[in-house]
Amino acid sequence: MSTPLVKSGVEPMVKAEAVHKSFGAAHILKGIDLEVAPREVFCLIGPSGSGKSTFLRCINHLEQINAGRLWVDGELVGYRQHGDKLYELRDREVAAKRRDIGMVFQRFNLFPHMTAVENVMEGPVQVKREAKAVARERALRLLDRVGLADKAANYPSQLSGGQQQRVAIARALAMEPKLMLFDEPTSALDPELVGDVLDVMRGLAEDGMTMIVVTHEMGFAREVGDALVFMDDGVVVESGHPREVLGNPQHERTRAFLSKVL
Ligand code: ADP
Ligand code: MG
Repeated sequence: MSTPLVKSGVEPMVKAEAVHKSFGAAHILKGIDLEVAPREVFCLIGPSGSGKSTFLRCINHLEQINAGRLWVDGELVGYRQHGDKLYELRDREVAAKRRDIGMVFQRFNLFPHMTAVENVMEGPVQVKREAKAVARERALRLLDRVGLADKAANYPSQLSGGQQQRVAIARALAMEPKLMLFDEPTSALDPELVGDVLDVMRGLAEDGMTMIVVTHEMGFAREVGDALVFMDDGVVVESGHPREVLGNPQHERTRAFLSKVL
């Protein structure tokens, strides 16, 4: 437990050290090392099946790692430290930690029987027992922020895919997370709807939100990203500033991947 967490004076928002994850005999994450600084937009790219979603799920307590260490905001994921001893978190403690992390998926999974504003209010009201009036006010403000002030009363079926995804982002933000995880948030959208979602993410980045973004949108990574990791087959192949990695990839595997997506 003597691993120094602080590198270059800044405590990372996320730090992975030799993280391994297997599903049965399938070794998926094979020693991931990386650090995400506070306020950073950290882009994660790589071929399908390379372990990107699995890694996000480990950060968000949806999967347990098999070896290595993973910290979020200075705390070991899944464990409580007491002196030299580590104790596995109880379900209730895990739930409390997960509240601080917002996650946005490829599929938006809004509640179909609730309006946009009700979807955004749901977490604070049900999980944090917040007063409905307070939650509603914040939800309306967040819908305004994602450009949907006029759609608050619409049901998901009355919204485009891009609008639904922006509601999903507002819903995640309603829990006031310290970290946002985006797992291919625009991959399921028609091309003409992608821009509005990326604009919302760009705004979040400008406001200083710490974000890990799995994406195939290389333009977004180049313009908005502070750091970029190329992952393949469960390892980090290459990392650096997005402009460096995308403009001058050092590894053949990176070049091969980029030639397909750029
Ligand atoms: P990516 O997001 O980069 O496409 P994933 O993390 O989704 O990759 O998946 C990596 C590998 O892990 C895939 O081969 C996938 O089939 C496998 N995998 C993911 N989740 C599970 C699971 N719950 N059980 C078994 N295998 C899984
Ligand atoms: Mg994935």
